Amino acid sequence: MLTFSSTRSADIVPLEAAIMSGTAPDGGLYVPSELPRHQPAALDGNGGLASVAETLLAPFFSGSSLAERLAQLSADALNFPVPLRPLETGSAALSALELFHGPTAAFKDVGARFLAACMGDIVTTGAYAQPPVTILVATSGDTGGAVASAFHRRPGLRVVVLFPEGRVSPRQQHQLTCWGDNVISLAVKGEFDDCQRLVKAAFADPGLRQEHQLCSANSINVGRLLPQASYYAKASLEHWQRTGELSSFIIPTGNLGNGFAAVWARRMGMPIDRIVFATNANTTIPDFLNSGAWQPRPSVATLASAMDVGDPSNMERLRALVGDVNGLRNEVSAAAVDDATIRETLIDEYRRHGLAWCPHTATALHLYRELPAAEREGRHWIVVATAHAAKFDTVVEPLLGTTVTPPEELARLLALPADYATINASLDELVSCL
Ligand SMILES: *Cc1c(COP(=O)(O)O)cnc(C)c1O
Repeated sequence: MLTFSSTRSADIVPLEAAIMSGTAPDGGLYVPSELPRHQPAALDGNGGLASVAETLLAPFFSGSSLAERLAQLSADALNFPVPLRPLETGSAALSALELFHGPTAAFKDVGARFLAACMGDIVTTGAYAQPPVTILVATSGDTGGAVASAFHRRPGLRVVVLFPEGRVSPRQQHQLTCWGDNVISLAVKGEFDDCQRLVKAAFADPGLRQEHQLCSANSINVGRLLPQASYYAKASLEHWQRTGELSSFIIPTGNLGNGFAAVWARRMGMPIDRIVFATNANTTIPDFLNSGAWQPRPSVATLASAMDVGDPSNMERLRALVGDVNGLRNEVSAAAVDDATIRETLIDEYRRHGLAWCPHTATALHLYRELPAAEREGRHWIVVATAHAAKFDTVVEPLLGTTVTPPEELARLLALPADYATINASLDELVSCL
């Protein structure tokens, strides 16, 4: 049976505990004590995402109370397509992996929905937490919507979402506040950091933790990372089973959850060649690869706001996996893209293919265009498209001079009535809403 341990100690916990506790008690992040290796031929890249996830993740679940239910959990959570859209063919082939066909139109639906399905099952056993369990989440935009949507109406679970008043886009705010039922939305008078401080203060209070059975669903939860490896597996297998070729990925990167999952997928034996991380003007990761010095810093605001991270948490996992910075340089590369270039890329790609991408996806497209010809020739590159352009309409539409139609699911959410309470950034006020 596979167990999980903290990046900072050798103590091991079962899968269920790693999922329910989010971070390890020593402040480290949970990682599997070993990675299984699969034969690519044993998986079917042309099946749905759920069937790939079921096979890829089986070793992590084997022996746990969820093992028998993995197929059902995957089918329940991963019930939307992740199409590989060919953009350019020939000797330098380019595709886009579209991860925005879930309910909130961003890749975070994959991790959040899988986590919600797992937690929903775990709480019914009562072994790791007593329902009702309260998921407390601070968000600067995309995460909160994906989590609220994923946990909405799940028995035994409720969600409290904190977002900074006036600092998320109108469409993002709507996705945070349109739920009702078991989802409570709170606008906090302050910044994202104030929201995060409140959440940390609540978790640091053992009485509150116990009374409300507080749990976290943030992006460092291993239950969100594991399913993300499945779309890298599916996309690379799909291409490999058709052509016998490997695929290389360029991944828009902030907290490094999405990018890290690609490294896992390759280590698990999937037909993946290069992995490139594209960041915005928050350059902590590319600077580290260049200089060898890890220097986290405060984040700066950019057009690709879901990647505004100055201290990417999942680097701790990546370093634990690859050793020193030389080990890291052997596995991945990274480069930063500034706002002016994001704007130019959005316009340029719209001219080229008539397609509107989101600002995050633009960072990856730009790095593809910058690759030396020798890197492009004879390779299949996949740019990871992390959100639908319609989520970032206020950035994209003026640049392209056209409106971007929201996908059906997003349009449905945007039409629902919204409701939220506003609180000061104080723990007492948060507690009164729990
Ligand atoms: C969260 C997010 C990212 C960054 O993903 P990480 O896992 O934090 O690196 C990129 N694009 C979009 C649209 C996102 O919502």
